[in-house]
Amino acid sequence: MNLGDKKPEKRPLYVYYIIVGVIIILLNLLVVPSLQERSVKKTDYSTFLSCVKRGTVTEATVDDDYIYYIARVDGVDTMCKTVRMDDPNLVERLEEAGVRMESPEPDTQSIFLSLLFSYLVPILIFVFLGRWLSKKMMSSMGNGGPGGMMSFGKSNAKVYVKSSTGIKFSDVAGEDEAKELLTEIVDYLHNPHKYAEIGASMPKGALLVGPPGTGKTLLAKAVAGEAEVPFFSISGSEFVEMFVGMGAAKVRDLFKQANEKAPCIVFIDEIDTIGKKRDGAGFTGGNDEREQTLNQLLTEMDGFDGSKGVVILAATNRPDSLDPALLRPGRFDRRIPVELPDLQGREEILRVHAKKIKISDSVRFDEIAKAASGASGAELANIVNEAALRAVRDGRKFATQADFEESIEVVIAGYQKKNRVLSNKEKLIVSYHEIGHALVAAKQTDSAPVHKITIIPRTSGALGYTMQVDEKEHFLMSKEELENKIATFTGGRAAEELIFHSITTGASNDIEQATKLARAMISRYGMSDEFDMVAMENISNQYLGGDSSLACSFETQTLLDKKVVELVRRQHEKALQILKDNIGKLHELAKYLYEHETITGEEFMKILEEPLPAVETAQAEDEV
Ligand code: ADP
Ligand code: MG
Ligand code: ZN
Repeated sequence: MNLGDKKPEKRPLYVYYIIVGVIIILLNLLVVPSLQERSVKKTDYSTFLSCVKRGTVTEATVDDDYIYYIARVDGVDTMCKTVRMDDPNLVERLEEAGVRMESPEPDTQSIFLSLLFSYLVPILIFVFLGRWLSKKMMSSMGNGGPGGMMSFGKSNAKVYVKSSTGIKFSDVAGEDEAKELLTEIVDYLHNPHKYAEIGASMPKGALLVGPPGTGKTLLAKAVAGEAEVPFFSISGSEFVEMFVGMGAAKVRDLFKQANEKAPCIVFIDEIDTIGKKRDGAGFTGGNDEREQTLNQLLTEMDGFDGSKGVVILAATNRPDSLDPALLRPGRFDRRIPVELPDLQGREEILRVHAKKIKISDSVRFDEIAKAASGASGAELANIVNEAALRAVRDGRKFATQADFEESIEVVIAGYQKKNRVLSNKEKLIVSYHEIGHALVAAKQTDSAPVHKITIIPRTSGALGYTMQVDEKEHFLMSKEELENKIATFTGGRAAEELIFHSITTGASNDIEQATKLARAMISRYGMSDEFDMVAMENISNQYLGGDSSLACSFETQTLLDKKVVELVRRQHEKALQILKDNIGKLHELAKYLYEHETITGEEFMKILEEPLPAVETAQAEDEV
């Protein structure tokens, strides 16, 4: 990642082309004429001899292969040459004829030139090329850092201070949860003594997790902009080096620098490149280099003193592929989810980006946000830019609503194919499903069942999401509570059945959970009349997820299965009845969720406790 860094200006490639071109032209100018024989008449040896005899030859130059001579015919000098024969009397003959003999003086020049061009110039070219290549290599490896070859193993993380990024939290729209968590880190870096007084130390690392384009990198830049401390930024892929061991050396160097500059922030973007799960000795022998780099990173994170004020931020869109060791306490133990924006978030992001372009007053951001359901921050930024481009293309001075609408189609067409966006029908089903869960839960306990429900598809792949928070931690759960829980699990499917008279695959996870719970109630918790306090299943490997093994006869097992089905069915019917009794609220809440895409626990309770307006119920029922 480059946070507005100023790279040393590189000479553009064409400069080298020009230099090479000039050399070629020079060669042409110098070499070609000297090699070109001046117009020389070729004669045979006997002609030469007869000329000598007749005394017309005035001058002769003899070299190893040729004899060059000037023959004067009718007062006109002609340069001639002939092949030199093995003639021992040649010199005598020439002397007799009074020919002026010359040492091959012009040849010294040509020998010099040919020496020059056959040895010196190629050497020069190679030296020049070599230097250029090595310079290029060094700059690509050492990022042009001073020291060239010597800078191998330097982290070349870029250091940024506040002024250089200029990005603030206000530039990141939506993502309030992420901003809140990061604000604490910024505050810690500003007033470390405040925390030190109480003895609190910040988590060493925080991991920004979310789909691509949701603003993870942007958030990290904003932290850099807000916290007035040095900010080291490096991308995971920059650790992957040409030479074995260099990645680890870079990590070492990065942390050495960070320790010197503390308090500071180290940001590792795309950490999954180095932080992938180590797979022992896989059958390719594993990627030793990457593993070494990861090990070094783990060692460094353990090694430094958290109270010194070095905070490590990292970003990834593949948290599930990360090595579990990275997520252990004391490392990236704080996870900051950066999810796709909801309706309101999308509108805010559009507004942030629209500030940079000229728009007409009639643009309705809420409409655009609604149409761009499922778009990430990066895609919304793209939509705004695309709209501006459209306006320019049409020769207008500002972007209009129509520009935005058309650019949505261009930008969204790409990712709707990827099936990430719910159709309106699906959105409606998911809304009812999630409200079904929540309503069943609320009606059984008379309290806010949820912290937040959203129908924005999640990184986990779930279409909707109900964030349940128990008011107090439960260690003991009564049979009724467990039954209520099962009823809540079935509530989603029950709502679908009730409203759409058909069922979808959306409940697969609910089914799994309800089954597990019902089975445990009967086989392990002794919560059925038939089996009393007899364990039907043994759980081994408690800490590794728990493998269960049946500890009963085949007949009992069949009965157990039957009991599980009965238990779930009873709760399912209960859930259906609850929803039937509250169908007005179900419509109202589902409609709210469908429109807003997110509903908080308070909003949920507020709507639930309001008296139902009679007219609206009828309307809502008509709609479905
Ligand atoms: P990520 O690192 O999560 O893949 P980036 O931080 O690189 O995503 O986001 C790419 C671009 O998308 C940003 O430069 C910004 O223009 C835009 N963007 C994404 N999320 C937001 C947001 N919440 N607010 C404003 N702009 C955003
Ligand atoms: Mg990024
Ligand atoms: Zn569900």
